[in-house]
Amino acid sequence: MPHDTPLIATIVAGLGLAFVFGALANRFRIPPLVGYLVAGVLVGPNTPGFVADAGLANELAEIGVILLMFGVGLHFSLKDLLSVRAIAVPGAIVQIGFATALGAGLSWMLGWSMGAGLVFGLALSVASTVVLLRALQERRMIETERGRIAVGWLIVEDLAMVLALVLLPALAGVLGGQEQADTHVSGMLSLPAGYGIWGVVGITLAKVAAFVVVMLVVGRRVIPWILHYVAHTGSRELFRLAVLAIALGVAFGAAKLFGVSLALGAFFAGMIMSESELSHRAAEESLPLRDAFSVLFFVSVGMLFDPFSLISNGWPILATLAIIVIGKSLAAFVIVIAFGYPLATALMISASLAQIGEFSFILAELGVGLKLLPEQGRDLILAGAILSIVLNPLMFLAIDWMKPWLEARAAKTAPSVEAKPLGPATEPGQVASVAATTNREDGPRPRTILANHAILIGYGRVGSLVGAALKEAALPFLVIEDADKTLARLKADGIETVSGNAANAEVFAAANPEGARRLILAIPNAFEAGQIVLRARAANPGINVIARAHSDAEVEHLKGLGADTVIMGEREIARGIVEEVLGHKPPEASEPSAA
Ligand code: AMP
Repeated sequence: MPHDTPLIATIVAGLGLAFVFGALANRFRIPPLVGYLVAGVLVGPNTPGFVADAGLANELAEIGVILLMFGVGLHFSLKDLLSVRAIAVPGAIVQIGFATALGAGLSWMLGWSMGAGLVFGLALSVASTVVLLRALQERRMIETERGRIAVGWLIVEDLAMVLALVLLPALAGVLGGQEQADTHVSGMLSLPAGYGIWGVVGITLAKVAAFVVVMLVVGRRVIPWILHYVAHTGSRELFRLAVLAIALGVAFGAAKLFGVSLALGAFFAGMIMSESELSHRAAEESLPLRDAFSVLFFVSVGMLFDPFSLISNGWPILATLAIIVIGKSLAAFVIVIAFGYPLATALMISASLAQIGEFSFILAELGVGLKLLPEQGRDLILAGAILSIVLNPLMFLAIDWMKPWLEARAAKTAPSVEAKPLGPATEPGQVASVAATTNREDGPRPRTILANHAILIGYGRVGSLVGAALKEAALPFLVIEDADKTLARLKADGIETVSGNAANAEVFAAANPEGARRLILAIPNAFEAGQIVLRARAANPGINVIARAHSDAEVEHLKGLGADTVIMGEREIARGIVEEVLGHKPPEASEPSAA
């Protein structure tokens, strides 16, 4: 490993090992993020062997946070954000208060100072953006009402933490620490001393307000203008660059000039962009990078972790974990229920917030720098973060298991308060689709009761036309589709649907391939289609498989894997054009590949 290229080494080792351990985790049916964390522990300073640069890994992870929040902003409008404020603001504040009290209690039992208790409690009260957003995305919940509440809640927490980060140095003296932190964290956030506490609060809030106003007044005009201009140049490369530059630039500027967090800045950049029609394209452009960098977030967390601290800190770690997973969840649960939301919503919000992450590390770092928090506090926060992140997918699984029971209960009680059909076809209890009871790709899925049916995969330009014809002919069929927007359309058309990637075994099995007569692959990716053909053949040797392809190589690939008929799109387009020109369809034999 070359020693003079630490950035490259960190990216290569981080992504490479994350891939290997993520794939291993997947093999053993554990969430891949556990694999990413393990990869982090391995390249971290606490285990022998290669040690990546923790500072660099952290910064790379921040890029992941920026891109994730930017992506979420793209799905949000100001209206969406304001629509959840009635629950998100009190919810987050009460939850922060409760978790802080619990944390302070534990700190008192450990014999720490009051200031330590405050920092420790605050650090336990704030959920990780990355963990929460990934969980929501995986379950396609960002655009449902629950998802909005969770994101709104997160944003309030984020603002509270921005405030905490600037207030702590000002208050350190009063709390028994030392006024000036000797850590890099405070550099970005510190305010000139001598304003008093309310002065500091006032200046911070004024800066946040100034940022919001600048974004809404200037950003709203300038950003769409830049995008339209770049789109006109016709250069895809420039467009991509514009999207990235705006997301990163606004986030960085927000942090440097206004003292707002990077995540919040990115969220606003995304929200402003979502007002322009180009937003969807923008979202797609930032996608691959976003996934890669958010993986690095887990690696960087793993790097900080010392597995041996688990032994030396036994019960305090368990107590910390209990506060994060049980205490915080309970508070959130009670608040959401108190606001009249259904049980399932309350559980989902509690589960998504039952973890801590990046903000907690920053707070811990600052607390130690201000001599408020003992080193042990930081170790507990780190261990609590790792364990709660690992446990988080289990919390969602637990909800999935409880769902049938919950729905039975909900059906018995009066109609729910939350009856707004905001989201796609993933809100339970609203659609008569197989997917209605579960959003997870690896959770238990109810199977369709259809038999002798056709399974249509993909409902885009090709699949929707095929589906319409099948419906017209009154043939029994169902559709497997994984795009939220399309799922909403299927729901509107009243077609039975399995949501998710058809290449996923559980998803595919829910469509009852054993009992199906026909499989119609209307998706563009021949690699994925090939996997599905193999799976279908294994389940049902007699099934008739019709697939879609876009090149002769794809036709061959799909036939080789067992497709009965492969329709090559471009050839059909050519035949259509020739027919238009000559007035009759050319014979099949005019295939170029036959020559
Ligand atoms: P089009 O190319 O317009 O026919 O659209 C293809 C459709 O197939 C889109 O709606 C995709 O969301 C969907 N699709 C692509 N791959 C998969 C997959 N592996 N599983 C389920 N749906 C898919």
